[in-house]
Amino acid sequence: MKLENEDALDNYIICHQCLTLHEEIAIADGSHACCTGCGGVLYRYNTQRIDHGLALSITGLIFFALANFFPLVQIEVLGTEQFITISKTIFTLFESGFYLVGLICAFLIFIFPLMIFLINLCVFALLKAQKGKKITKELLVLLAYITPWSMTDIFLVSILVALVKLIGYAQIHIGVAFWALLVFVLIDVYLVKRIQIFEIWMLHKRIFAHKDEV
Ligand SMILES: [Zn+2]
Repeated sequence: MKLENEDALDNYIICHQCLTLHEEIAIADGSHACCTGCGGVLYRYNTQRIDHGLALSITGLIFFALANFFPLVQIEVLGTEQFITISKTIFTLFESGFYLVGLICAFLIFIFPLMIFLINLCVFALLKAQKGKKITKELLVLLAYITPWSMTDIFLVSILVALVKLIGYAQIHIGVAFWALLVFVLIDVYLVKRIQIFEIWMLHKRIFAHKDEV
């Protein structure tokens, strides 16, 4: 097989399981293409994913806002009550002089998760409207870079570990934001697993190729 230039690579797809190279062909809406070598799914094309992605992004953002506006947990020690919120956790780190840790935490548990859901929202909205070919492409590249850096799931697990350790010493009341964060993390995991980024690329490619033809 001889490739004329780098752009010709866009017409080929490699199997993630057995690394066999395949030529990409247009498939019907709602179907998927399988590898001839191992039978694994190479790519999918399903325009319904746009509506699912849009709904999940909006729901995720609502729960993210709830997780940030309300207390995560209320801890009572010897009659003294303390509320813990996500923003308070970050500000406490800054006030204690842990600027670098505070900055990293701010990015990992607030800025990146928020950006990921906002980007997803914009991408799915633009794909639905069939507008913004270039900006959608740039947003998808940005999404691929920042997705591995969202760590709200690790933050949630660390809260649980801290609460287990505190059970014997203090009275703990779980706040609304804790449940909102739990739902947000579940939506985040579901969105990433359910609608993989290469699937969004496929939607982008097909939708705008079809629009260019029209
Ligand atoms: Zn394969």
